[in-house]
Amino acid sequence: MQVYISVDMEGIAGVVHVDQTRRSGHDYERARRWMTAEADAAIQGAFDGGATGVLVNDSHGDMRNLVLEELDPRAELISGSLKPLSMVQGVGAAFGCALFVGYHAGAGTRAGILDHTYYGRVVARCRVNRRDWNETAINAAVCGAAGVPVALVTGDSAVCAQAREYLGEVETVAVKDAITRYAARSFHPTTACATIRAAAATAVERALDGAFAPFHPDGPLALEITFVNAGAADAAELVPGTERVDGVTCGYVAPDAATLLQVIQAWTILAGSTVV
Ligand SMILES: [Zn+2]
Repeated sequence: MQVYISVDMEGIAGVVHVDQTRRSGHDYERARRWMTAEADAAIQGAFDGGATGVLVNDSHGDMRNLVLEELDPRAELISGSLKPLSMVQGVGAAFGCALFVGYHAGAGTRAGILDHTYYGRVVARCRVNRRDWNETAINAAVCGAAGVPVALVTGDSAVCAQAREYLGEVETVAVKDAITRYAARSFHPTTACATIRAAAATAVERALDGAFAPFHPDGPLALEITFVNAGAADAAELVPGTERVDGVTCGYVAPDAATLLQVIQAWTILAGSTVV
């Protein structure tokens, strides 16, 4: 079984602040190594569980965070941006399951470390079919449309709870427990990696037994994003097919999950251009 792994940064053990997640941040170089170690643990666990190949996608920020030579050489890495499918670029029918590592809660979550949805500077809330969707749900829907189920989600306890809400009984690893948006009680990196490796092995074993169903919501996907101000919504509204719902909210009815993700990217890139 080929295994796909998407790796974000806000849900890595020890990460609680943007000083650790932005390239210009003082603690970034340390945090990217924690991220690389957790990605490597997931790769090793996937092979322990029976994977025959692993593709890793660097899914945070400029998507050039993972230190390639510190990853298990059996894996391949997608890095850099822009990518049409962003955090799930490269997923497809060849994969038996997907693992989401270092994920975080959706915009507007209370006590979720660095909660946001795709672009935190402009997105205040993201809903699909009148329900809040975080990045786990959005990316799982893109995987699901390709027939690929999500088998493992790691991050703080808030994203793990949200993952189970959308995806049912997937494997989860809560490497930290948020106290507020910028404070958490966390595992040590060594403990986080050991736990992730074991959970990834179990996830792949269960996937080989057919334990997980692809996340495949019915019908068209009615996207609504509430932006941080009307200027951001003005820019997003430039995308053809966008409906202006109110001063700060745009809507779009996407025929499938890949289109949904591309509209989210187009809106947030345009809206981001208005940030002063
Ligand atoms: Zn991120």
